[in-house]
Amino acid sequence: MFSFRSPDLARRLLETIRARSTRPVRLMEFCGGHTHAILRYGIPALLPPTVELRSGPGCPVCVTSAEDLGQAVALALLPDIILTTFGDMVRVPGSRGTGPASLAEAKAAGADVRVVYSPLDALHIARQNPSRKVIFLGVGFETTAPMVASAVLVAEAEGLENFYVYSTHKLTPPATRAILEAGEVALDGIIGPGHVTTVIGANAWRFLPEKYGIPCAVAGFEPLDVLQAILALVEMAEERRPAVVNAYRRSVTEEGNRPAQEAMARVFRVVEASWRGFGPIPESGLDLRPEYARFDARRTFPVEMPPAREPPGCRCGEVLRGVLFPDECPLFGRACTPLNPVGPCMVSAEGACAAYYRFGGRERWKK
Ligand code: SF4
Repeated sequence: MFSFRSPDLARRLLETIRARSTRPVRLMEFCGGHTHAILRYGIPALLPPTVELRSGPGCPVCVTSAEDLGQAVALALLPDIILTTFGDMVRVPGSRGTGPASLAEAKAAGADVRVVYSPLDALHIARQNPSRKVIFLGVGFETTAPMVASAVLVAEAEGLENFYVYSTHKLTPPATRAILEAGEVALDGIIGPGHVTTVIGANAWRFLPEKYGIPCAVAGFEPLDVLQAILALVEMAEERRPAVVNAYRRSVTEEGNRPAQEAMARVFRVVEASWRGFGPIPESGLDLRPEYARFDARRTFPVEMPPAREPPGCRCGEVLRGVLFPDECPLFGRACTPLNPVGPCMVSAEGACAAYYRFGGRERWKK
């Protein structure tokens, strides 16, 4: 069976990258899953010194704003509420005010916060607890939004009256555009997120070469996938012929997954969203359409919140924008570790700080 971890093929790809790379290029892997794969397999240490990799904002838990986290904590503390969400979100530290700062602290204070693996689990909890109100805190990109849309459609079909969604879902192309427009970090190529692009299709990245002259290579998550994408980006940068290359053909098509796109479009509308580290980005978030307002936790349970603050000293914002390597944060590995995280990038399974801590940072890559 063909292995996407074949050492021979990896060696050959690396030799080709070394042979083709004659000038410095800085590539950004949008997706936190890629950051973890890249570091787990020690790819930076194998690349020629001309190729630099920066992690991007592709960690949904990390880019969830402090305001949204504060709102979720406040919702969890309301009477008769069961707040459900993915595991990483529970541990993300929030603003330290007078009450609980995180969902974990809210749970310790008596709130009913439950970890689920899918929005369908939250639906199940709603069916089992008809006298309680079950809120699903929806966090994620275009990969998870269709599942949440499907859960809303199922709740509607079943006439479930105690299921709600607090949507913090975000769209990936607008954040990539925001990084390029800000110009804080010069990039020569983007490693496109494989799972997201399975849904939205490779054509969704055509604005990168067409508007910004930046090549994009969509990658899977095995070492050979990532190396193949890096080679494509190096070649396009060398030849100054930016394009979108689909280096994940076993999953990604040009048009994407139409049924998933249709479910998203039916339930959600595109709105401005606030991203940690970026602030508001136009047309980068998904909110429930007015037709589904009765499932919208924001509209059903409005809560007043004081302005949220970032964890003091945390530089997640710069890490998420690709401006700072995680190990350049003064708290990295000292005050901030996976056991005692200061910011979300150290909590999440897709966080760049957690990846650098777990697999070793730039010290390990020194040539
Ligand atoms: Fe924030 Fe910790 Fe990362 Fe520093 S190391 S940016 S404090 S998560």
